[in-house]
Amino acid sequence: MAESIEFISIYINFKFFGILIFMIVALILLKIKINIKINNKLNIAFIILIFVVCFGNDLRRAIKYDFSRYINIPFIKFNKELIYTDDILINSKIMQESYLKIANNHEKLKANENIKNIVLIIGESSRRSAYQDYGQGLNTTPNLINIKNKIIYSDVIAPYASTNPVMSVLLNFANLDNLSERKFYENLDIINLFKLANYKTFWISNQDYISEWGNNAASVGIMSDFSYFTNKYMSSSDTLSYAKYDGVLLPIIKNLKLSDNNFIVIHLLGNHGNYKKRYPKTFSKFSESDIKENIKDKKSISEYYNSILYTDYIIYSIYERFKDDDTLIIYLSDHAESLYDDKTKSLLGHGVSDKIIADIPFIILYSNSFKTNHKELLDKLILSKDLAFMSDDLIHLLCDIAGIKIAEFDESRSPINKKYNKFRIRLFANEINYDNFLKLD
Ligand SMILES: [Zn+2]
Repeated sequence: MAESIEFISIYINFKFFGILIFMIVALILLKIKINIKINNKLNIAFIILIFVVCFGNDLRRAIKYDFSRYINIPFIKFNKELIYTDDILINSKIMQESYLKIANNHEKLKANENIKNIVLIIGESSRRSAYQDYGQGLNTTPNLINIKNKIIYSDVIAPYASTNPVMSVLLNFANLDNLSERKFYENLDIINLFKLANYKTFWISNQDYISEWGNNAASVGIMSDFSYFTNKYMSSSDTLSYAKYDGVLLPIIKNLKLSDNNFIVIHLLGNHGNYKKRYPKTFSKFSESDIKENIKDKKSISEYYNSILYTDYIIYSIYERFKDDDTLIIYLSDHAESLYDDKTKSLLGHGVSDKIIADIPFIILYSNSFKTNHKELLDKLILSKDLAFMSDDLIHLLCDIAGIKIAEFDESRSPINKKYNKFRIRLFANEINYDNFLKLD
């Protein structure tokens, strides 16, 4: 009960009660069949009051911050994302059948770069500015900051503001520009791509096990040669409440039976709220006194930074596991997180089309033998680090890295390619031109 209340308390706020009161009043009015005469001054006053309770604060913020971005108000945005998730809440079996059918229609592929380990770490709710490599002043990432074989990408953004929509375009050849042509799961996925290229595939996840509906990450991951899911709860909210720390994956990762070529995806719970549930007590380093921003809820922000400190340890442990081999590691977050510093200054979380939530960390780590074996590729990666990129095109970058030639691979979508289109319109959440409206915020 205590855990449930704690979880719900992240989402229940004044606005929630406003809507609840509105609904109860509406229901009572219907039940007792009051004939509202709109010319009755009292009734008009009552309707205005209800409106002010529900939307007044949003309206005040919109006027204060930027009225042209009225659509950015959390209340409206949250509901819009909920309503529009119909498109991504697909039966997981249907998704898998579709992915497998597409894979079966492909010939075997060659991976010309012959990298032993390609490791993709997918973080969760991690914001770029929380990392020392991106300018964080607090000592949040003491391990990462000391890794020398590292490329820090400065301009990579997420395609959407919450997990499941991001996963619908991160793990296959779907992107925001081809969604109108076919459904996202009617594209080849990342696991079958590497299988076709003779890589042994692994999926190690501290997020949800496959559920019947809409688990866009697990639906792909489950098709790996080896898959492991820590959490087999009924819903994502259960996972968030009862999940184990990401460290539970480390022994699994340590004992993987590797082959000559391995594609390994590690899906973390990372820095998702409730933050203090994401790290063991030994990582409780920051407290309210470390937070200099003038914000009431310094406690949550300090807990967020503790979770980053733990993610730093997890990434470093994975790096240690693979660093003596020919290995390339890509770490990115699904989307970022607002710590009351989005445009509205009111949100602790994500799900809103805001710069703060678009800006994700994107970090490449590599081993010494990778440096020796793939010199030309490494130069190309380093050269691409400041290019504008959106993570829905990750699969094209991976094709280019591994040297996989396949009809779906589009050179103009890989930042290490000569033909890369660095002027692609990045329509965050499929609605706001990031480079025109958000980037300079
Ligand atoms: Zn997420």
